[in-house]
Amino acid sequence: MDNCIFCKIIRGEIPSVKVYEDDDVLAFLDISQVTPGHTLLVPKKHVPDIYAYDTDLATRVFSHVPEIARALKQAFPEAQGLNICNNNGELAYQSVFHSHIHFVPRYTSDDGFKMHWANNADQYDQASLTAIAAKIKSALAKEEVE
Ligand code: 5GP
Ligand code: ZN
Repeated sequence: MDNCIFCKIIRGEIPSVKVYEDDDVLAFLDISQVTPGHTLLVPKKHVPDIYAYDTDLATRVFSHVPEIARALKQAFPEAQGLNICNNNGELAYQSVFHSHIHFVPRYTSDDGFKMHWANNADQYDQASLTAIAAKIKSALAKEEVE
């Protein structure tokens, strides 16, 4: 992918501050450093988003998540938490269309990172939740066939 910024980083065509690399993945500091230690994990293979992973690639990439999380915890013992995010689609705040996982160590409630989780539980009853689950289960069943 000639114009992909993360492919360019992987090929060493533009600089990055690397924290881990093997044949399958690269982890490097996010230039924005939302909080100190903000790290990105990317597959070396260009895949635009989560929908494009096959099981093998997912295993090779996502199996590194716990070790990077533990490394950040050890490197920044003052951090009180860690948010791990994978944005898919512009609406979901994806701006670079080479799939990546954010690791954002959390230091204080006003450290620069925010997530808002609306609680809409009062708008759902058992029947509507069951109907939602049925749609997902049916789609999953098709995934298993493919
Ligand atoms: P997204 O918004 O797609 O979830 O995250 C993309 C991330 O890539 C952003 O947090 C942004 O700061 C980071 N980023 C964009 N360009 C570069 C770059 O050239 N170098 C590094 N290290 N990070 C980048
Ligand atoms: Zn790419």
